Amino acid sequence: MKPPVFDYIVATDRDTAVAALARADGEAKVLAGGQSLMPMLNFRLLRPSILVDINRIPGLGFIKEMPDSIRIGALTRHFQIETSPLIGKHFPVLSYAVAHVGHLAIRNRGTIGGSLSHADPAAELPMMAVLLDATLRIVSAAGSRTVAARDFFLDAMTVGLDGTELLTEVVLPKLPAHTGWGFEEIVRRHGDFALAAVAATLTLSGSEIVQARIALTGVGPIPLRAEEAESLLVGREFDESLGRRVIEAVREAISPETDLHASADFRRHLAGVLTGRALAAAWRRGHAG
Ligand SMILES: Cc1cc2nc3c(=O)[nH]c(=O)nc-3n(C[C@H](O)[C@H](O)[C@H](O)COP(=O)(O)OP(=O)(O)OC[C@H]3O[C@@H](n4cnc5c(N)ncnc54)[C@H](O)[C@@H]3O)c2cc1C
Repeated sequence: MKPPVFDYIVATDRDTAVAALARADGEAKVLAGGQSLMPMLNFRLLRPSILVDINRIPGLGFIKEMPDSIRIGALTRHFQIETSPLIGKHFPVLSYAVAHVGHLAIRNRGTIGGSLSHADPAAELPMMAVLLDATLRIVSAAGSRTVAARDFFLDAMTVGLDGTELLTEVVLPKLPAHTGWGFEEIVRRHGDFALAAVAATLTLSGSEIVQARIALTGVGPIPLRAEEAESLLVGREFDESLGRRVIEAVREAISPETDLHASADFRRHLAGVLTGRALAAAWRRGHAG
């Protein structure tokens, strides 16, 4: 199918973009990498009055190191994140996870801002934003604000942007020393969306876990942190019996759905298996330094 008729504006600065979004009063769509938006238009699942192309706005695609955080511009392509030495140094779990997004051609165009705003329930980057306690910076004609990634995802493909707002930046607080990570995903074919995926970090002091994070995608409408399961790990050493309790807690925390690709029961089973593997990898890497 062909997309419905729409107007099109190429914004060359942020003010022009947010002014166009404000004028359209919720009827506009931002065009970033187009890897999700164009299929949605072609299927006529969306009928915006105007597309606001942000690709030529300078200063929206960047990865910058700050003393306590890494800032990633909304227009940064998946491939740039995947190959960034800064991300590789501070967030190897993110470098690894983003390589699981679709195929290379998609990662060349797709952006972190687009992935978070689109909020597919099985997408990797929303899960990583939740895992890494990201803060999102948002601008509109009315001003700017920040929101925690955990509060941004409201429902499947529904986020806390009011239609006149532009996501501009993702801020990731640096991880403490001695943090190991794990990422596990099951897909039907290479490049598909996840049937289920789990990412975990464990921060160690000697052999004691002092901070644990477990995030999941593909097992509910939004990415989630398994907080009760995380709390079981803190103050403990990871071993098989603790792993089994954590896996059960994760399975209880999720509400996966049955669809064409997998049943809810299978997704719940996968979430547990992947959690065990991700935690074992995080524990090993935490000890390796
Ligand atoms: C074949 C195929 C396979 C894929 N596989 C995966 C996969 O395995 N995992 C995965 O996570 N994704 C996958 N994707 C989606 C891909 O990651 C997209 O790049 C991503 O979802 C959207 O990014 P984009 O920059 O292309 O956004 P666009 O398509 O341009 O926009 C997506 C949505 O976000 C809005 N938006 C974009 N940028 C902003 C902004 N800065 N502020 C406010 N709103 C904004 C748009 O208006 C639109 O509603 C796949 C896509 C395809 C075509």
